[in-house]
Amino acid sequence: MSFVVAIDGPAGAGKGTITKLVGQKLGLVNIDTGATFRCVALNMLQEHIDIQEEKRIQEMLDKINIEMHPDGKIYLNGEEVTHRIRENDVNDLVSPVSVLPVVRNKLLEVQRKIAEGKNVIMEGRDIGTVVFPDADVKIYLDATAEERARRRVMQNQEKGIECSYDEVLQGIKDRDKRDSTRKIAPLKKAEDAVYVDSTNLAIEQVVEKIIEIIKETTKKES
Ligand code: C5P
Repeated sequence: MSFVVAIDGPAGAGKGTITKLVGQKLGLVNIDTGATFRCVALNMLQEHIDIQEEKRIQEMLDKINIEMHPDGKIYLNGEEVTHRIRENDVNDLVSPVSVLPVVRNKLLEVQRKIAEGKNVIMEGRDIGTVVFPDADVKIYLDATAEERARRRVMQNQEKGIECSYDEVLQGIKDRDKRDSTRKIAPLKKAEDAVYVDSTNLAIEQVVEKIIEIIKETTKKES
């Protein structure tokens, strides 16, 4: 039996950072499901497959191999793509790709398999609603679009990537809209998820809050 903590929420809410830190503190394996969608988008770019070519996408998915190693490195068909999947061409393609039913079905299987038999903290958009509806703990991590854009601009500056705040904010709003209005597995809070607003909280405060929620929930269950 595995123990599952599901962390869902929009882009830039801090899921990646928080999940990594909480996972380290509690000894849970950290799984970033967005990375699996990013691998599919990258594979389509590599094979020059258009979003309309359903048959070619299916064939590509039949042979895709995505690995997440304990050191945080991600491999697509044997090649390390940890940083490559964060580049702009993948950013632009990932959200439309994640709407395709063939992709979601395949990745549902991949994500459940990655978690099999492990104690995990898994972050994404539909973990508490679709991938693990019976997760032991569910958290919906949110922040205003403006705060999320501010954080993304700061991250980019640290990496030396130039960008304008207005463009980043618009990109975040577009992605939110696409992710929350799609028919299959839209981004939404599971009814039984605990809502955490990180807008005015420092990283350590969010980490503490989430650890508290996990401890409280498991105490109640045992
Ligand atoms: O979390 P990240 O920004 O890497 O996710 C990239 C994209 O993958 C999201 O914008 C969303 O479209 C999609 N995604 C999803 N379901 C998940 C995780 C990510 O649809 N569980």
